Amino acid sequence: MERAIVTSRLALRMPSEPATEQDAPVAQDLLDTLAAHANECVGLAANMVGVRKRIIAVDDNGTRRAMLNPEIMEKSGPYETEEGCLSLPGRRGTTRYQSIMLRWQDADMAWHEQRFSGWTAQIIQHEIDHCNGILI
Ligand SMILES: [Zn+2]
Repeated sequence: MERAIVTSRLALRMPSEPATEQDAPVAQDLLDTLAAHANECVGLAANMVGVRKRIIAVDDNGTRRAMLNPEIMEKSGPYETEEGCLSLPGRRGTTRYQSIMLRWQDADMAWHEQRFSGWTAQIIQHEIDHCNGILI
């Protein structure tokens, strides 16, 4: 189910709590909301739809994936870039990493580990920042 996008910076600056298996419906809502905004948005974090849980949804080269409790284990290749955000007006500069080793849980709470690079890695880093209450 598509959910409304939160734009309150005060709300968005609060860090999210670990996700549990009860949060699987939230992961689906995030995927649905990302699909509804596909023309303007490539990633969402649960607090952007009003749920303070560590869940993100990202467009991974055309495939939308939901990740619970994503954690960057290792990162390399810093670069400066500019990003927009569905919750905020305008674009802002930020530092991202070219390559990240990520671990996360799927909706069945199974752990996965995978290396991401480039654009997908950038989206993941932006959304994990949201989980930590960090805005660009
Ligand atoms: Zn954002």
